[in-house]
This record gives sequence, C-alpha cells and structure tokens, in this order.
Amino acid sequence: MSRAGTIAAIVDDSISQRAASIRPSATFAMAARAATLRAQGREIHDFSAGEPDFRPPTAVREATAAFVREQPVRYTPVAGLPALREAVATHLSAVHGSTITPSRVLISCGAKHSIANLLQALLEPGDEVVIPTPAWVSYPDMVRLAGGVPVEVATTAADGFRLRPEALEAALTPRTRALVLNSPGNPTGAGYDAAAVRALGEVVARKAPRTWIMADDIYRRLTYGDFRHASIVRTLADLHPRLAIVDGVSKTYAMTGYRIGYLVASEALVLGATRVQGQTTSGAATPSQHAALVALTDPTVDAEVDAMCLAFARRRDLMLARLAAIPDVHVPVPDGAFYVWMDVRAYLGRDPVPDDAELSRWLLEAHGVATVPGGAFGGPGYIRLSYATADAVIEAGCARLVAAMAALRRG
Ligand code: PMP
Ligand code: GLU
Repeated sequence: MSRAGTIAAIVDDSISQRAASIRPSATFAMAARAATLRAQGREIHDFSAGEPDFRPPTAVREATAAFVREQPVRYTPVAGLPALREAVATHLSAVHGSTITPSRVLISCGAKHSIANLLQALLEPGDEVVIPTPAWVSYPDMVRLAGGVPVEVATTAADGFRLRPEALEAALTPRTRALVLNSPGNPTGAGYDAAAVRALGEVVARKAPRTWIMADDIYRRLTYGDFRHASIVRTLADLHPRLAIVDGVSKTYAMTGYRIGYLVASEALVLGATRVQGQTTSGAATPSQHAALVALTDPTVDAEVDAMCLAFARRRDLMLARLAAIPDVHVPVPDGAFYVWMDVRAYLGRDPVPDDAELSRWLLEAHGVATVPGGAFGGPGYIRLSYATADAVIEAGCARLVAAMAALRRG
C-alpha cells in the first residue's frame, strides 16, 4: 500500500452529530436533479424550486452593474449598510403601520440566513419551536441546528392548511420559545387573514409568556384574488415586543441569487443575531446590499413588481385550470406565493409509485416533470408544483403531468 493510501485509510472524516441530524434541502435536491438531467440533454419541465424566472427590476440591475464598475467593493458593517438598514426600517414601518428603528434591523445573506441567525440567538438547548405543517423544508432543520426541538403541528385540508388556535394551544409547553407563521405559506399557498392571526396571537398572549411569533413574510407581496396579507404587527399590537419579522428581496424583486434578507426583532435579539452573524459570515455581500437598497427606494421598481405579481396570478390560474384535467386530485386555490399543493393520495400505494417521494421521482425520471414530494414539507401524500415559471413551461409540463397521471390510472 502506498504511503498516501495508508494516511487516507486512517483519516476519520465522520461528520458531526449536528451535521448528521439534518437533511439536505429537498427543494434544492430536486432542482439539482432536474438541472443534471437537462444538462444530459433531456427535456425537463421544471416545477421544483420556488424561484421567480424574471430578471430583477431594471433600476436594480443598472445600479448593481454601475456600483461594481465604479466603486471599491469592501466589507460593510456586520449588521448591514447603514443606508440599507434605514431603508428597510422605513419600508417596513410603512408596511406594518408602526415605527421600526434601524437598530432593530439586521441585514443577512437571504431570508434563510435571517431565520437561522434568529434561531441561533433565541434558542437554548431543548427549546421548542412550533411549526404548523405542511411547512417549508428548512424550518425543522434550522431549529435542530440551533439546538432546539421542532414541534410539527399538522394542519388539514379541511382547515385550508391553517393552524387552528386549539391545535396551537395543545402544542404549547413551558419550553415553547417560538411559533412560525408563514403567510402566504410555502408549500400550500395558504394565507392567514387578520382574524386568523388574531386568534393565534390571543392563544400565545394567554398561554405562552416566553413565546415569540416569527412571521416569515417572504411572500407577503405575492398575493392574489381577494386575499390581503395581514401584518402581524398591526394585528397583534399588544404582542409587539415579542414579534419577529423575516422578510427580504428574493421573491418580491426576483433577486434570489443576490442573497439579501432581513430580520426585525427587539434590539437585544437583533444584537444577539448580529453577534452570531459576525462570527459566521460577516456582513452580506456588498454589491447585493446596494442592489437591495435600490429595490426598496427607486420609484420605478414598484410598477415592475406589480407586473410580476400579475403574471404570477395569471400563471396560478393557468396551472389550476390545466391540473383540473387530472381526476381525483384535490388542489386548493392558493392565496399567494407561487406554489400549488396537490393531493395525489388517490394515485399512491401501488407500483411504480408507493408514495409521494416515488411519484415525484417517477414524474421526473420517466416523464421529465420536476416537482417536490410533499413528505419533505411534512405533508406526505401530496406533491408541490411551483408556477414561478413561463406560461409555455406550465402548458407543456402540465400536459405531460396529465398524461403521466392518466397512465398511472390505467396501469
Ligand atoms: N422562507 C420561505 C417560506 C421560503 O420559501 C424561502 C425560500 N427561498 C425562504 C424563507 C428563504 O428565502 P431566501 O432565498 O431569501 O433565503
Ligand atoms: N424557497 C424556495 C423553495 O421552497 C427555494 C429553495 C429553498 O430555499 O428551499 O423552493
């Protein structure tokens, strides 16, 4: 055996318990598999990752290019460019009808990072975080990484996938440190109106004095039909001292790759989260912070965002119309975000698709349609389809899906 071989044989590269306790992100895993198949020359209709296909607003692109061309690109303060913290504070003060000072804002590398920082700053080992499911794939693992315990509380189709106050009350314990409220939500598109938010807030106020409510508002601007996003701060003014807001530019401004998210919480919690960020990533990427500043302040941006929202609304209706051709599936009408959540239980339980994971895999490998299996969101028996993609992809992909599901029925 060579000397190098001997050394390699004694290397212990077992990963830590902490890393082993979490799963790879299922949304990114499906998107990566779809991209690999496409690179191999396969025609793939991609409904996997939730990422707008639009370009960021014109002013954002132009200002970013000019900044990189003309300015030195240096570190910013850990908590973010002062001008951006100020702009976020002004913007969110207007959204939430309450003064938010820049000292209560932390700029991070995407909303995912904002949530991770908040959980790292908030949780003691064993603290519980209530997560109504189906929920975005990353919440439980981010809680685990922070030493906490995710407490998943299942919602039902009959309740429109909204957490009931009684179910929240039953899940609360003296260890409950946070409740996650994602409206409109990933993966179901369900939104909580003001009455629903108030009902949950009353339970927290009455039963859980240590519990924070974390509103993940990343899809706040993307609502359709009659649904309007209810600000947690406006709705639960009495609880304001223990409300945390996560928001960002990824979805609203089609700026996923820029990686800018923000956290609003109490000054103490923001300082704690900033300390975590200061010893992990430092400030978010400087050109991206300048880009986010333009997104929030340039007067031409709003009209472009409105146009994107209209396109998403149209695509939602297009996808729902096409999926209606599949018998025995139930698809609730989403209030917002850009996902449909399809109940496929009538098709599961036999070869080749015993469960949603196998159905999702079969749809991609055999039919070139990329989806995400519901089990990854804590909702087995469902699959998630993102309609943040071109109308032509929706048309062609749904046609494939309809044909594949018909073949399953016959088979
Ligand atoms: N929250 C939810 C509910 C999401 O779906 C996502 C997906 N991107 C995020 C947070 C993270 O957003 P970002 O890309 O800004 O990290
Ligand atoms: N949030 C998007 C999704 O759910 C992007 C991927 C991710 O962050 O999980 O598909």
